[in-house]
Amino acid sequence: MLTGAGVSAESGVATFRDSGGLWEGHDVHQVATPEGFAANPDLVLRFYDERRSQVQLVEPNAAHKALARLEQALDDKVTIVTQNVDDLHERAGSTRVIHMHGELLSALCLRCGQRHRWENELASYPPCPSCSQPDLRPDIVWFGEVPYHMDRIEPLLQQADVFVSIGTSGEVYPAAGFVAAAGAYWAKTVELNLQASRSRSLFDRVKEGPATHVVLEWVDEFLADGVRS
Ligand SMILES: [Zn+2]
Repeated sequence: MLTGAGVSAESGVATFRDSGGLWEGHDVHQVATPEGFAANPDLVLRFYDERRSQVQLVEPNAAHKALARLEQALDDKVTIVTQNVDDLHERAGSTRVIHMHGELLSALCLRCGQRHRWENELASYPPCPSCSQPDLRPDIVWFGEVPYHMDRIEPLLQQADVFVSIGTSGEVYPAAGFVAAAGAYWAKTVELNLQASRSRSLFDRVKEGPATHVVLEWVDEFLADGVRS
């Protein structure tokens, strides 16, 4: 399944709005592009430091928990590909989570390429634990950068019996192409979203409502009758 901002929204995680192009009052080009980082690294590091501390104060909601319960019931048959950079799926108990847009709680070293779990600030230019150089950046995929783990995601789309898109507008590629890719390999496709996305016609089924309601309902239904959609 693919999850996006709509899953974490009810936990109080602020994300940038697709339409407005603003993220907590900042232009996304300032804080979510390599050019923005090059132009003003202090601002960008502080911005993600704030997001990183904020995310450690929020809790997984009923939607995250329902997806963790689904994984527990179906063993290794459930994989979550998430556009979210928080760790709420993991904290809810999901173990098979692929972060295609990176993670707030990770730092990437521009010098040696190593990643490290990171809970504290980066704006003070701390040394990389691997190479000791002060060249750490947020391990976040910015606009203009290639999403992570596409080599793992593509086979999953080809093998899926059911593809569920949850809380995402489905307008940003490559994720926007996932429903068509999974459908081409005969997966049943389901959209669970506050409001159906513009790609609703590509889905076999659409359920509208807040994630904490529709995800819970869909998981209950799926586990109760074993219906494959
Ligand atoms: Zn390093």
